[in-house]
Amino acid sequence: MSATGPDARAIAAAVRAGERTAAEVLEEHLGRIAAREAELHAFNHLTEDAARAAAAAVDAAVAAGQDPGPLAGVPVALKDNLCTRGVPTTCSSRILEGWCPPYDATVVTRLAAAGAVAVGKTNLDEFAMGSSTENSAFGPTRNPHDTTRVPGGSSGGSAAAVAAGFAPLSLGSDTGGSIRQPAALCGVVGVKPTYGLVSRYGLVAFGSSLDQIGPFATTVADAALVCEVIGGHDPADSTSLPEAFPELTPHLADGVDGLRVGVIAEMMGEGISPDVAARVRSAAEALASAGAVVEEVSVPAVTHGLSAYYLVAPAEASSNLARYDGVRYGNRVDAPTAGEMMEATRTAGFGDEVKRRIMLGTYALSAGYYDAFYGKALKVRTLIREDFDRAYASHDVLLSPTSPTTAFPLGAKVDDPLTMYLNDVCTIPTNLAGHPAMSVPYGTGDDGLPVGVQVLAPARGEVAMFRTAAVLEGSLR
Ligand code: GLN
Repeated sequence: MSATGPDARAIAAAVRAGERTAAEVLEEHLGRIAAREAELHAFNHLTEDAARAAAAAVDAAVAAGQDPGPLAGVPVALKDNLCTRGVPTTCSSRILEGWCPPYDATVVTRLAAAGAVAVGKTNLDEFAMGSSTENSAFGPTRNPHDTTRVPGGSSGGSAAAVAAGFAPLSLGSDTGGSIRQPAALCGVVGVKPTYGLVSRYGLVAFGSSLDQIGPFATTVADAALVCEVIGGHDPADSTSLPEAFPELTPHLADGVDGLRVGVIAEMMGEGISPDVAARVRSAAEALASAGAVVEEVSVPAVTHGLSAYYLVAPAEASSNLARYDGVRYGNRVDAPTAGEMMEATRTAGFGDEVKRRIMLGTYALSAGYYDAFYGKALKVRTLIREDFDRAYASHDVLLSPTSPTTAFPLGAKVDDPLTMYLNDVCTIPTNLAGHPAMSVPYGTGDDGLPVGVQVLAPARGEVAMFRTAAVLEGSLR
């Protein structure tokens, strides 16, 4: 149970036992949405009718003595860059406004197969480029804890939806921090799994070597359950690892006795708000009291993460976004020649930040500059992975702030891209390394707004990561 309502596991248990109907659960959540959505704008699109039909099907299954699955009757919100068959999928961009994919993303199929009930598509920074959800073509989302503040981004709608009790679960995507940072700013749990453990099939691509899908939840156990449901091999994604998602639920109560925890030195000083760093220190102390061996560790190359990311991610984005040309994808703006049509289509369809990334990426990849920019960024990426490997040789998990600050006011950074990019200093290195990391709410800053502590782990290190997160969550009770 949390302030936002019963958690997903409690709902599923009640629905499976026939104590509550999925229909009732859904109406309760739709009621919360009706009360606050106009103020928050967490959703681009609600799917109430389809949700009512899905809930009725869950109830019919229970009545027939069948088990609808581990997420029976649990409302979920989906980031609007996840393909949903016949349901608008816009990436919060004018260029895709009105587009309805002919298929579901693998994660969407798996959630439905587990009995979850999708309630709608959540707002994001256009094509997931941003850290505040202010880059949405359809207007910003607001932070449920303080509506003058941003919810973070790019999965701000998904984070706000869970924080506001619109759904106990949601999905986001994380290319450089887009699940963890909004989770931190909205006071919920957010997980970026190991690259390849969750299928990207049906996720609209931003930076394909960095993108991963993951959950938002109000509890660590709920987040673990979603990973188990959506994770594991998918032949439709060529980068999907040929294995199941590690089982997490049986290990959530294992504790951290003897676990070796390193606090990343480079993420505790300059640029990090002192009140946020103080929360990370108390988290480290809580782990030490629970029996973990905690010490500071240096991961020097992470200081170059931001520079490398803003070459690698835009480079991949410039290639991935080439398909929005008014022919293959994208709302066409007609013009006399094909070249002019494409230019008009892309000029009208993309917002400023997306254009900025395409230009950065095209430049970084262009002949004569490739080695100096893109090639060099790839080398830095390798150095970051190697420095993490060294740290993980003597530590099971690492700890840092998720975001350098708590939620900032709307409008505060939107005109200054570099300041906005700094939001992701602590989260980006993980994506470059392909590792898992998650944000766990850990109290509040001086302003009373949520602070998230980031738990990082090596590739496939989800079990140790979740054990640590569960201890942190428990230490606040
Ligand atoms: N804020 C980062 C960016 O704008 C990360 C975004 C993301 O993870 N999708 O690129």
